[in-house]
Amino acid sequence: MRKKTSAFVLNFTLIELLVVIAIIAVLAGILLPALNSARDKGISISCMNTIRTLGFAAVQYAGTYNEYWVPYNRGGDANYAKWYNGNREFASLHGLPVGSVEMRFVKTASVCRAATLLRATDARYPSPAWICMENVYANGLHLDVENGPFSDTWEYRFVRLNKVKQPSSRFGFLETNNEGRTNSNYKWADWIADRNAVKTVPAYRHNGGRAMNIAFFDGHAELRDYTRVDYASTSDPNYNLWRPYKY
Ligand SMILES: [Zn+2]
Repeated sequence: MRKKTSAFVLNFTLIELLVVIAIIAVLAGILLPALNSARDKGISISCMNTIRTLGFAAVQYAGTYNEYWVPYNRGGDANYAKWYNGNREFASLHGLPVGSVEMRFVKTASVCRAATLLRATDARYPSPAWICMENVYANGLHLDVENGPFSDTWEYRFVRLNKVKQPSSRFGFLETNNEGRTNSNYKWADWIADRNAVKTVPAYRHNGGRAMNIAFFDGHAELRDYTRVDYASTSDPNYNLWRPYKY
């Protein structure tokens, strides 16, 4: 009798435990995606604030430097004063301390956290707390190679803000990855990589790998789905979004 009771108690407990586990599993299945989604949305909003700050800094820079958008590269030396490397004026406008920090390596707090999560274990970076800016965001001028009003492919990086066509729809800064063709399905990435041997590709880090943050030449920022960024042909309305002087 005693044994039977004990077995009954044990069986009851097991069933109860299974029910509780099942309920927890169902709740986790419902809540975890929501939590992940909320986290991803938070990262995306933070990233948009960062890229909007870059856009504002570039607009202010133009105000100071005779309407010129911060150049991708100010001189023939590829290492000289890129917007993210050695350009103290722009670094200052971006809110980084002048004279102590270059923008090439920035604290991970200053860039898209979705990128830093991917890079946290990459030994090429000096510390997980720092990341190379060129692997997170690109100056939109970088992308207009061979299609701007200048004939040479590398030295022109000068665009006057007051000459930009439709500044509210042309890409001033956007999310990119300098590591190679991570998104080989995207024709835009293929074009950049093949035509110029530049490993800068669009990086769709948000909305489950579908969207990127973009700052426009007028200073506003948007999260955009890749279907509104990439293009399939020259007749695609997206084709000129990253070409400030066109149309
Ligand atoms: Zn981002």
